[in-house]
Amino acid sequence: MTDLFDFNPPPPLYAVMGNPVDHSLSPRIHTMFAQQFGIQLDYRRIHVDAGGFGQAVDGFRATGGQGLNVTVPFKIEAWDLADERTDRSRLAGAANTLSFKNGIIRADNTDGVGMCRDVSRNVRFEVAGKDVLVIGAGGAVRGVLGPLLGKHPANTVIANRSVDKAESLAELFACRGSIKTDGFEQLVGYSFDLVINGTSASLQGELPPLPEGLFNAGALAYDMVYQREHTPFLRWAAEHGAAHLADGLGMLVEQAAESFYVWHGKHPDTGPVVDTFRRGRGES
Ligand code: NDP
Repeated sequence: MTDLFDFNPPPPLYAVMGNPVDHSLSPRIHTMFAQQFGIQLDYRRIHVDAGGFGQAVDGFRATGGQGLNVTVPFKIEAWDLADERTDRSRLAGAANTLSFKNGIIRADNTDGVGMCRDVSRNVRFEVAGKDVLVIGAGGAVRGVLGPLLGKHPANTVIANRSVDKAESLAELFACRGSIKTDGFEQLVGYSFDLVINGTSASLQGELPPLPEGLFNAGALAYDMVYQREHTPFLRWAAEHGAAHLADGLGMLVEQAAESFYVWHGKHPDTGPVVDTFRRGRGES
């Protein structure tokens, strides 16, 4: 007979949903954070087919799920599904973090704060007063523009393959700071202190058609994509005058740390987690 006092409740359930999601480092990152505080949790990867996001979230909640990270391509659907939205997710119009409590779905977006913390704390680059180029106008850029403009760059330009999307974003964020928009060919003759690649081109092994002379002396090239090797954008930047290179690993860990704070009310130490992944791919 089972002794009632031997019963251990299962650890609280969290997950990342996306498509594709097999590559996601989020389960390992959240498990490492939880170990820092002696918190028990069960964090899973859930692959969701197109059109199945709402049903997948319902199923996850029914099995006791407490929090979800959401990745490509479901961040807007996640936002639509929510009963409550934080200001930063409202501004982004997309959610990468959902919390389930008392029957309520609360949407948040930690991508922007994650990138800004990585740039300032890990890369140690000061955005204030600098000329910044953001390449891309998808969900990730929409998430980072508010926090980025909050760092008071001198000038901000958004360049995107579909210029109309860049123009919509510039209009949306006009109240937060002045943004100029351009197609790639109009960038000729301009140079920047910080160039952020917020496109998914690196995932396809591609590079947006960027002109030469884009980097000022001491400039930082930042790719939101994280890969084992340098991305095509970072390789190109190194060959075309960028003084410093950073990939999306730091952003990934910092946005996860903010999600962890949303769910557990504790700020994990991100440095050791970034170091673990960098060592894992042979960086010192
Ligand atoms: P979206 O699909 O919403 O947007 C994709 C963007 O990339 C669009 O601006 C699109 O241009 C552009 N693009 C795609 N392919 C090309 C190409 N070959 N040449 C030029 N532009 C291209 O994706 P997200 O915004 O959600 O994500 C963008 C990237 O950021 C992803 O690779 C994702 O992995 C990464 N990311 C990283 C995070 C991290 O923590 N490190 C967090 C969030 C995202 P167009 O509008 O013309 O189609």
